[in-house]
Amino acid sequence: MNHAHGEPIATKPTRQEQEPAQSDITEVAAGVYRLQLPISMPGLGHVNCYALEDANGFTLVDPGLPGEESWTALQQRLTQLGASVKNVHTALVTHSHPDHYGGVHRLQADHKIEVIAHSDFYSSYAPSRASEFFDDLSTASLDLADDEDIEKFRDAMRFTNPWGTDREPPSPEHIRTWGAVAEGIGTKIFQPPEASVSLNDSDEITIGGRTWLAIHTPGHTHDHLCLYDPIDGLFLSGDHVLPTITPHIGGITAMDDPLAVFFRSLERMHEFPNISQVLPAHGHPFLDLAGRADSIIEHHHERLDHLREAGADLGQAPVEAYMQRLFKERSWGDMAASETYAHLEHLRILGDATQDEEQGLKTYNVA
Ligand SMILES: [Zn+2]
Ligand SMILES: [Zn+2]
Repeated sequence: MNHAHGEPIATKPTRQEQEPAQSDITEVAAGVYRLQLPISMPGLGHVNCYALEDANGFTLVDPGLPGEESWTALQQRLTQLGASVKNVHTALVTHSHPDHYGGVHRLQADHKIEVIAHSDFYSSYAPSRASEFFDDLSTASLDLADDEDIEKFRDAMRFTNPWGTDREPPSPEHIRTWGAVAEGIGTKIFQPPEASVSLNDSDEITIGGRTWLAIHTPGHTHDHLCLYDPIDGLFLSGDHVLPTITPHIGGITAMDDPLAVFFRSLERMHEFPNISQVLPAHGHPFLDLAGRADSIIEHHHERLDHLREAGADLGQAPVEAYMQRLFKERSWGDMAASETYAHLEHLRILGDATQDEEQGLKTYNVA
């Protein structure tokens, strides 16, 4: 749901983020384990769940998608650590995307864990629709074996994009895969969990016997949180900074100019000079946090230039027309349109584009 990542940067041919989840576990720093959980989303083959150990058990950072496949993998990985889900006492969720929070519901329901997230976790996402949308969904009964039920559920998930076209809900296959995890959790699986501990920027939190600083990094989502261990220079970067792909920047958000917000959060990556390891949510750990953040900024500046060039031919045109210039055909769809819209809105706010609207459909003229 509403989550995938943008085009790979052309100069970096390897896309580690697409590698399938490996079952072996690596101890990336003392008491910090990287567990790879399977996901199947555009451009992504696994999500890293970091298990941080302390005397009482484990905190899991981003425990994967909902669904039986991820849950089974999580149990297997914990077994390799000589533990089980019973030893998990806390989950920290870097941001409100289902490949990061999906595993939390069952841990919360079955094991009463603490859930830590940013104080804006989900609350201001798509404010026009979020609360009633999820109220409707959580009262809906859903029999995963019933095609009619699935279609009703999908209808409840349909909405109009802010640029005026209609959004397709997740496929029946996705709903079946993600929904089939635990009796009693039901349709809740599609909404973010309730956090029991809220963090704001610069808050300190002790997890896995280390004191971390919460770094609020809005952009990819409004509620994105990174964690920085100033003693050992570890940086849990979530989806904010990924090693070889650029995080998706969508236009369906409470942020007025998500791209500008993302740029500011990327520039902040220069504030951490003693990084020993960046631990991303997808792909392998890496070292150069500031350098990688700079190349993501550069990538988006190239995309903006590309839109300026496209605008010269297209004149006044809808978001989808610009999307077809910005993305390869295999990527066309709601995600790509949303990212294009975020870029067009950035240009509009800069004064480099004008917007028109007719019967709800927005068009842009990029000067
Ligand atoms: Zn994400
Ligand atoms: Zn992700």
